[in-house]
Amino acid sequence: PPADRAQLLALLCRIPAPSDLTMDHTIGLLGGGQLGQMLCEAANPLGIKVVILDAPSSPAKQVNAKTSHIDGSFIDPEKIRELARKVDILTVEIEHVDTHVLEEIAEKGVEITEADGKKRMKKVEVQPNWKTIRTIQDKYLQKGHLAKNGVPTAVSKSLESSEKDLLNFAKDHGYPYMLKAKKDAYDGRGNYPVRSASDVKDALEALKGRSLYAEKWADFKKELAVMVVKTGDQGDSTIAYPTVETVHEDSICKLVYSPPREVSESLQKRAQEIARKAVGCLWGKGVFGVELFLMSDDSLLVNEIAPRPHNSGHYTIEACPTMSQYKSQLLAILGIMPFFPNSVIPSMFPATIMLNILGGASESSHEDLVKRAVTIPTAALHMYGKASKPARKIGHITLVASSMSQAQEIMNPLIGLAGGIRA
Ligand code: ATP
Ligand code: MG
Ligand code: MG
Repeated sequence: PPADRAQLLALLCRIPAPSDLTMDHTIGLLGGGQLGQMLCEAANPLGIKVVILDAPSSPAKQVNAKTSHIDGSFIDPEKIRELARKVDILTVEIEHVDTHVLEEIAEKGVEITEADGKKRMKKVEVQPNWKTIRTIQDKYLQKGHLAKNGVPTAVSKSLESSEKDLLNFAKDHGYPYMLKAKKDAYDGRGNYPVRSASDVKDALEALKGRSLYAEKWADFKKELAVMVVKTGDQGDSTIAYPTVETVHEDSICKLVYSPPREVSESLQKRAQEIARKAVGCLWGKGVFGVELFLMSDDSLLVNEIAPRPHNSGHYTIEACPTMSQYKSQLLAILGIMPFFPNSVIPSMFPATIMLNILGGASESSHEDLVKRAVTIPTAALHMYGKASKPARKIGHITLVASSMSQAQEIMNPLIGLAGGIRA
């Protein structure tokens, strides 16, 4: 139909000439966990080289022998400079990195020594922009930035680590509320639900030594998430993946349903629009995970943004087989993301469910679940090559199906087995 032809033409016009494609640029990755691993799995068939900075034999290094990697910490400025010397673009698979050295590298470059012994500064791009990573890694700063840009979020307030401050927050906003560490938070490690005045002492003890803020309790009906690809700093530079439903247990993501169950299409669209707006007020390029609360009155609040591939986007490996969140991350930071009509990347399956595999009490607690998953032809198992520890994310299973009821019928026994691991 003519509309498709027009779109095709628009697509062809937007793709850079082959000579401008930058696929031979080497990417430096801060962090080598499972997100980095899946990023390398996407980079391998594209012939894109990734150099990883993390501990020896971290999950990403296990699947990438194309380059020599750097052993060390992604919060060590000298190691980050060493990585920068070897690559053209730096990116992250974790936001808890040193952004001051990233700022220095992006703005001034990194010093290298030429073959003749002369020193010069080499330019290295940082994507997404260090300002984005710095704003996001402090969850309170992030909340303020979103609010300033008209993105709806839960009311939040910076607190001193004092009983007085914690009690005062409840005077204004009631119990329960969520006490959160501003920095270094993941998988709920950094959150403490304060349900009454008698929790205040324990909350302060649990988050001792960390800068804190409090958030009004979000009495949500569901949690949703949207992966967004940012291709530049212009207003129309964001593309959304489908809206998904995330289910958390003890603040850790357990399940992801695509499409979300019992959420109207118009609400799914609104979630995509809010997520695109939230990512649009950040800087630079890359893929972002936007977590949202769907409130009882159908309003939406942004919980937080991750400046990188995200657990809620794992399903795209199977659901968007030619355009996973990992491939998008690579193409976006290289500046060669294809054009998508209506700024949406569709799923190729009517329904998918992703189940996280968390470590249990013993190293073999998850064995039954893993063995069961491989017997299901429509399920994809991803084990990350990490040692099993209680509540640690060590793998995931994505199931594709022709309807959500079919997906649930097949996945429910696995969800039962996963529940047994936690018990
Ligand atoms: P992540 O691993 O996603 O980075 P995190 O440690 O940064 O997690 P949050 O995303 O802030 O933590 O919170 C984890 C979960 O805790 C949320 O997905 C939600 O289930 C719950 N939660 C967080 N904030 C609130 C709130 N204000 N009200 C109610 N529940 C909340
Ligand atoms: Mg977080
Ligand atoms: Mg979160």
